[in-house]
Amino acid sequence: MSIDIEVLLEHDHSDDCPICRTTDVVAFTLMPAAASWEQAYELPHLSVALHGAAQFLGVMMQEGADRADLENALGVLLDDIEEQIAEDRTLGGPTQGNA
Ligand SMILES: [Zn+2]
Repeated sequence: MSIDIEVLLEHDHSDDCPICRTTDVVAFTLMPAAASWEQAYELPHLSVALHGAAQFLGVMMQEGADRADLENALGVLLDDIEEQIAEDRTLGGPTQGNA
């Protein structure tokens, strides 16, 4: 089974936009959960976040995603996030995830 990463990267601000919806899920559920695990198990700050993100990508590779395609997609998403962080700083918003 192949995974269409291009479809996952479509960002259209609709109710079922995968990027908008996932961003909310991660911000409101996964990041706080990861932070709790780090604290509860005395793990370094953001260790669960980093390795959890890598594990998700590993699952995608197990399911047939090409590593180079994943790396490209990740680059696109990180570019967008970097832009958003810069915008937030300009507006005086949060400089860190407020999880
Ligand atoms: Zn979107």
